[in-house]
Amino acid sequence: YDDRDGHIWMDGKMVNWRDANVHILTHAMHYASSVFEGERAYGGRIFKSREHSERLKRSAQMIDFEIPYSVDEIEAAKAEVLKSSGLEDAYVRAVAWRGVGEDMGVASARNPVRLAIAAWAWGAYYGDAKMKGAKLDISKWKRPSPETIPVHAKAAGLYMICTMSKHAAEAKGCSDALFMDYRGYVAEATGANIFFVKDGEVHTPDADCFLNGITRQTVIAMLKDKGVTVHERHIMPEELEGFEQCWLTGTAAEVTPVGQISDYTFEVGAMTRDIADSYEKLVRS
Ligand code: PMP
Repeated sequence: YDDRDGHIWMDGKMVNWRDANVHILTHAMHYASSVFEGERAYGGRIFKSREHSERLKRSAQMIDFEIPYSVDEIEAAKAEVLKSSGLEDAYVRAVAWRGVGEDMGVASARNPVRLAIAAWAWGAYYGDAKMKGAKLDISKWKRPSPETIPVHAKAAGLYMICTMSKHAAEAKGCSDALFMDYRGYVAEATGANIFFVKDGEVHTPDADCFLNGITRQTVIAMLKDKGVTVHERHIMPEELEGFEQCWLTGTAAEVTPVGQISDYTFEVGAMTRDIADSYEKLVRS
């Protein structure tokens, strides 16, 4: 991704894509003091842009730093990046981190906080699983307790086990991994939230120890508008067998049907297709 034409917004300036570098002694590199956003633009407009900028600011506060730009300034920077990319449909990545300071220890209060924003074209996150239904492996790692780490931040440190779980899943021919949480309840995938259908009603894990995705919230509102009952609750892994349909939600994943989790299979049914279609319409409306 580093050898491309174009520009990346860094600390208030547009810099050449190939020159958008940081020093090796950056605090974030060593201690995961970094938060980020994944956003999608459709037809030149970022879906829920402001919500993403607000979440970025909140994520930083949750891991103890303040991004030195207001939500309005971040919004303007994202618009500038999108325009300079020349793309109508794009993935937008904002990342904020603690830079190089006077010290190389864990403490970093005097290190500058930095912000960068890039945009590029990114198609279906799960490739053709979007049509057929993704296959998920169950991760051996658990989503941690809110007493262990700020679980609601979109912070780099929470992604270490996501990468490991995704690699293990891919090695078994799966598209992604599903996490259980520290109590053993069904939680989320490595970059997306999960929904299940049974007897015409929808069940989704309570977002009490993982990211309450913007897409998750959008889809819950959409289901309620359609008059569908949505249960946000603790879901036991034993219940997977009884669910008829399943899908993932996320900015990158959008609404992706799930065909299989471990040995349990799901149909890519009418409700899944309807929600995927409605989401597609909404983001472009
Ligand atoms: N969980 C994790 C771990 C994620 O990385 C994402 C993607 N940001 C989500 C859930 C879904 O969040 P959103 O719908 O806000 O993209």
